[in-house]
Amino acid sequence: MSLTSAGGVNVIGAGLAGSLLAILLARRGLHVTVYERRTDPRHFVADSGRSINLALAARGIRGLELAGVLDEVMRFAIPMRGRMVHEHDGKAELQMYGVRPGEVIYSVSRAELNRVLIAAAATHPNVEFKFRQLCLGLAPGRNALEMRDEATGRIYHTDPLPSIATDGAGSAVRDSLVAHEVSDVREEPLDHDYKELTIPAVDGKPALEVNALHIWPRGGFMLIALPNPDSTFTATLFLARQGANSFERLASPAAVEEFFSREFPSARVLMPNLTHEFFANPQGSLGTVYTRGWHLGSEVLLLGDAAHAIVPFHGQGMNCAFEDCAELVRLMDQHHGWAGLFEAFEHERRPNTDAVAKMALENYEEMRADVLDPEYRRRKAAAEAAEKQDPNAVPRYSLVMFHADIPYREALLRAR
Ligand SMILES: Cc1cc2nc3c(=O)[nH]c(=O)nc-3n(C[C@H](O)[C@H](O)[C@H](O)COP(=O)(O)OP(=O)(O)OC[C@H]3O[C@@H](n4cnc5c(N)ncnc54)[C@H](O)[C@@H]3O)c2cc1C
Repeated sequence: MSLTSAGGVNVIGAGLAGSLLAILLARRGLHVTVYERRTDPRHFVADSGRSINLALAARGIRGLELAGVLDEVMRFAIPMRGRMVHEHDGKAELQMYGVRPGEVIYSVSRAELNRVLIAAAATHPNVEFKFRQLCLGLAPGRNALEMRDEATGRIYHTDPLPSIATDGAGSAVRDSLVAHEVSDVREEPLDHDYKELTIPAVDGKPALEVNALHIWPRGGFMLIALPNPDSTFTATLFLARQGANSFERLASPAAVEEFFSREFPSARVLMPNLTHEFFANPQGSLGTVYTRGWHLGSEVLLLGDAAHAIVPFHGQGMNCAFEDCAELVRLMDQHHGWAGLFEAFEHERRPNTDAVAKMALENYEEMRADVLDPEYRRRKAAAEAAEKQDPNAVPRYSLVMFHADIPYREALLRAR
C-alpha cells in the first residue's frame, strides 16, 4: 500500500498539531477526518486558562511553511529579539537571543494560530472537521476509536482507519493505550504551577518594550511577559505550589498585593487588575510526560503532547509538535505501510523528544536564576563572541531555537 495514494486517516484533536497535521496529510492525497471535543474555534472564543500566547521558533516555522500558512501567521506574530531581564531594583537589561539579525523568536496568539490552521485545513477538499466529538479511547474491538457526540450523547466508533491522536497532554487515547498495555507512561509533575495575568496598554501604547520576552527572575520563581498585537502583554507567574514563596501562601488579595509589591515592584505598577485577575484566572499545573510505545500496530499513533508533553521553559512544546508533523510526513516517503511508519516515527522522534524534555527542565533554572548571575552573563558574552568568530560554536539555546536542521538530541550532545 502506498501511503501517499488516496486513503483515509482519523486525526483526534484539532489543537495545534492536529490541525497542522490535517493540512500536511491532505496535501499528500489522504482523506482526513478530524474529531475535536471543543466547539469550532472559528465561531467561538477559545477556552481561557491555557497559555494565551506562545513563543514560535525555527522548528515551528518550518512546519508552518511546509503547510503553506507561514505568511498568514507572520501577520500577527511579534518578533522578540531577546530576554529583557528585570532586576529587583528596577534595572532592565536586554540579553539578545541570537548573534545574527534573523535570530529572533515570535510571540503568537494560540487561539489565532489555531484558527488559521483550522481554516486552512478546512479549505482543503480532503479534510472534514467534526467538532464537539469526544474521544473516549480504543473501541472494544480495538480497530477503531470510541467517540461521544457531545451534542446528543450518542456513542459511536470511528471508521476503522489509521488514527493519529493529537489530543494533547491529557490524552484519552494515551490512557487507553496504557490500559491495553500497549504504552508505558511516566508522568513527572513539576512542583511549580503557573497563572496568567495581564499587563494592559497605557493610553493605547505598550507598557513595556514590545520586541522582547520580559523576565522578572527571582531565583526560586519568576514572572514572564510576552507581547500581544493589541499592545497588551500576557504575564505568567511560575511559582511553587507550597512553601515559603508559593501559591498556597497567596490566598488573599492582601497577600497577593504584598507578594507582587515586594518581589516584582516594576511589574506590579503595570497591573491595575492584579488581585481581581489573580483570583479569577485558573492556576495551571505543569509536568513532563514520557511515553514508550507510541503506536498500536497500524491502528493508532500518538503525536505531539499526547506522546511527550514537556514543561514550557524552552518554549518548545508546540515547536516540537510541529516538528513531529513534518517528520511523520517526511518518513511517509520511506514507508509503504502504516505500522512501519509509526514504528519508525517513534524510533526517530523519541530520543529527540526526551532530549528537549531535559533541556526544557534545565531552562527553568536558567530563566529564573542563572540570568541574574554575573558569571552566567560573562559566559554568555564569551559564547556570543566565540560564535561570531566560528559559526560552528553555536550555543545550545541557539541550536534549539534557530537551527531546525539540528535534531534536539544532537543539540543536547553538541552543547555538552
Ligand atoms: C503555560 C504554557 C506555555 C507554553 N508556551 C509555549 C511556547 O511558548 N512555545 C511552545 O512551542 N510551546 C508552548 N507550550 C506548549 C504547547 O502549548 C503545547 O506543546 C502544544 O499545544 C501541543 O500541541 P498539541 O496539538 O499536541 O496539543 P494541544 O494544543 O493541547 O491540542 C489538543 C487538542 O485535542 C483536543 N482534545 C483533547 N482531548 C480530546 C478528546 N478526548 N477527544 C477529542 N479531542 C480532544 C483539545 O481540545 C485540543 O484541541 C506551552 C504550554 C503551556 C501550558
